[in-house]
Amino acid sequence: MKPQFPFARSEELWARAQAVIPLGTQTLSKSPTQFVQGAHPIFLTSGSGAHVFDADGNEWIDEPMALGPVILGYAEPVIDEAISRQLRDGITFTMMHPLEVEVAERIVAMCPGVEMVRFAKSGSDALSGAVRAARAITGRDHVIVTGYHGWHDWFIGSTSRWAGVPKAVRSLVHPIRFGDPAELAAVMADLREKIAAVVVEPCPAEPPPPGYLQHVVDVAAEAGALSVFDEVITGFRVAPGGARQRYGVIPDISCYGKALGNGMPISAIAGSHRVMKVFEEIFFSGTHGGEALSLAAARALLDTISDGTVLGEIEERGRNLMDGVSALIERHGVGELVTIAGEPHHPVMTFGGADPLITKSWTQQCQAAAGCLFNGSLFVCARHTDADIRQMLDGFDRAFAAMSDDGDLPARLVGPPVSPVFREP
Ligand code: PLP
Repeated sequence: MKPQFPFARSEELWARAQAVIPLGTQTLSKSPTQFVQGAHPIFLTSGSGAHVFDADGNEWIDEPMALGPVILGYAEPVIDEAISRQLRDGITFTMMHPLEVEVAERIVAMCPGVEMVRFAKSGSDALSGAVRAARAITGRDHVIVTGYHGWHDWFIGSTSRWAGVPKAVRSLVHPIRFGDPAELAAVMADLREKIAAVVVEPCPAEPPPPGYLQHVVDVAAEAGALSVFDEVITGFRVAPGGARQRYGVIPDISCYGKALGNGMPISAIAGSHRVMKVFEEIFFSGTHGGEALSLAAARALLDTISDGTVLGEIEERGRNLMDGVSALIERHGVGELVTIAGEPHHPVMTFGGADPLITKSWTQQCQAAAGCLFNGSLFVCARHTDADIRQMLDGFDRAFAAMSDDGDLPARLVGPPVSPVFREP
């Protein structure tokens, strides 16, 4: 398969990036190691709706949507006007800005059980704040986790990219498999009196098994620990009130990020008055916490999604995409090689076969040939059209058809396969 697009400007920028930026990127999941080279651009320069344009001017349908934050679409007028209006008045100030109150009030109104809110800039910030709060409230140090919770020491020490994290910190975090009450019970049996928090992504690559989230909340409470939902992906996406609303379960703390600013850097920690009051004791404070452009974007985002209509449309389109992919998997008999699961707002494709990275790379290369950027994580946005979904399905159709015929996929890749961000130790 020949690349059909020119990437000369991307390649020139990439050569320069490697000289002045370690790994050439700020975000591992956006690096060229995550996209089959020869078939993909490396730099994107603009976006409109669900489409993006690369540094050489090629147009693409975007599926990862900047890894999730851009839930309405790129250059969305309602967000951009809110930012522009605030920009004319100033970006950040010596004292608090009224938007801090207005956005907190909206989150309290939308998210069941939330009574108080603190803001931060990234999902990692929010999760670190929640864990510090849990440690302060319980006087305990250990934390159980299921999912990815950001780059800070307390969590990343549990992954294969732990270099630089003190051993003492690494010993305090205990990853368990999502959806498996037995694993939770096993860690609790060992460390019950030492656990400060159980942190769970409510819907990682699959929806929670019935009763699982309530079980996590109950087990944490029985052990005297806090339950924390990492809603960096589910927040303001799976329902206006996030996972709390969609699954009807109220943890002690929820952490929000990504969709909250439609791309602006803002995150939030939210919970009951009883729990959130600890933020009056712990140190959680930063120069940019009340930065007003992101808050203006968040207010506009929350007002746009609060009645559920936009998220309902995203859900419907996501369901069409999931149904379409499932039908293609069935038609081509590749169910051993590809699966799709998750909520329709964020379907996730998982790959199998002798080498899952080859299967994924091949699928990605076929998506690129169809004019679509794909990394396995399908963040459906408000501006994806039925035509966009059809174009994505055309790409999947070609990918799965080739998987089911001769299977010599490595020979058909135009560049090296993608590599995992986290390697097995
Ligand atoms: N939690 C989850 C579930 C995430 O997906 C991410 C990022 O992808 C984070 C936390 C960390 O957020 P950030 O990258 O904004 O620090």
